[in-house]
Amino acid sequence: MVLYTPGRTSSYPDEPVKSGLRIHFLGGADEVGNVGVVFEDQTTSRILIDYGLAPTSPPRYPSEAPPVEDAIITHAHIDHIGMAPWLVGNHQTKLHATTLTAALSHIMWKDTYKVSSIEGYPLPWDRRDEDEANQAWQTHSYGEWHQHSDTWKWRLHPAGHVPGAAMVEIKTPSHTILHTGDIDTRSSPNVNGAHPINCDILLLESTYAGKNHPDRLQEEARFLAKIIEVVERGGIAIVPAFASGRGQDILKILYDSGLDLNVHYDGMGKTVSQKWLEHNTHLRDSKGFEEAFRWSKRVRSKSDRKRALDADVIVTTSGMLDGGPALWYLNRLRSDDRCAVLFTGYQAEGSGGRQLLESGKIKIYGHNVEVACELDKFDLSNHAGHSELITFAESCNPKHVILFHGDPETRPILAKELEAKGMNVHTPINGQNITIN
Ligand SMILES: [Zn+2]
Ligand SMILES: [Zn+2]
Repeated sequence: MVLYTPGRTSSYPDEPVKSGLRIHFLGGADEVGNVGVVFEDQTTSRILIDYGLAPTSPPRYPSEAPPVEDAIITHAHIDHIGMAPWLVGNHQTKLHATTLTAALSHIMWKDTYKVSSIEGYPLPWDRRDEDEANQAWQTHSYGEWHQHSDTWKWRLHPAGHVPGAAMVEIKTPSHTILHTGDIDTRSSPNVNGAHPINCDILLLESTYAGKNHPDRLQEEARFLAKIIEVVERGGIAIVPAFASGRGQDILKILYDSGLDLNVHYDGMGKTVSQKWLEHNTHLRDSKGFEEAFRWSKRVRSKSDRKRALDADVIVTTSGMLDGGPALWYLNRLRSDDRCAVLFTGYQAEGSGGRQLLESGKIKIYGHNVEVACELDKFDLSNHAGHSELITFAESCNPKHVILFHGDPETRPILAKELEAKGMNVHTPINGQNITIN
């Protein structure tokens, strides 16, 4: 058990709730990721949803969680799950999620631990906390009510986003709350879109506030056209992709295209995919995904990696070119202008991918190097865009909407539009309470 040094003081108030429902963001209110939100009322029922971290360098952590018996984890992305071992190690908290999220957590924590050791950043939990957390799971099917206390109950609903991701509906004597986690209402290659749920209080993720996506299928077609162009000129397309979601989507798009492509798949996504296949009821088309996965050449050894240099497409982690095999391939191929790096996800400030897009250079193994490959970006996001968020919020018919997991600069655009539709909109900041009577 490690004392929580990075965010030592808790922002959570000591006073009991006098009236209404108290909602307190330990993190992830006015930022993307780093999520943790506590719900409590006069009955002293208390639930925490998500406890993540922000994998920036150095990482950022949410404020220290108060003692909670139960935490519900919406999905296994590190910004939602990264600090859960701390909860178990310090508060013996029970963790609740879908079977797939629970199965993926072990891979995510192991990787977080490894990265923090390599980069030398303090991690507020240790291996023992991680072992305890592995034992702390209670898994739930979508739609199945779970009694939390005498007066509160909750259930999970599919969130789109990635397989296994859940929205959380909590019923208290006075309110019905829906916390979206990360959502996408559009269907994507491996998961169906989320459906609205009637509620009084909607906590809506706002990653894409103020930003709309291009048409998903048109963007997939543009991506495939670029792959064909690169391959026809004798190049290799490197597709940096996140281990949990995007990489598998890319494989499925490439496989479903029917193109005769030699696709190699490297990095942590392979292990994640195995877990997907073990829990395949969460997949939109499990047979199709299994075929796509087996069709790709999975890189398992150093010699496989060298063989991948003859590929048409290499799909690999890390998605933001901050490490992983992607840098090894880029280092080998960077002076070949027939090759291309095709980004399919958001490149955060300070990431290798952002540096490459902005300057044409990237730091590989400690050196800033020029990259001659073509660079291109595609929007294959698994988050609902601005207009989908509006439609979703309207269909849930809430009295209150709380916008979280958003950029403080773009969140007001979404807030204004929802207010204009007659909703009572809150834009919380970390460490402050919202009380709803
Ligand atoms: Zn997130
Ligand atoms: Zn996510």
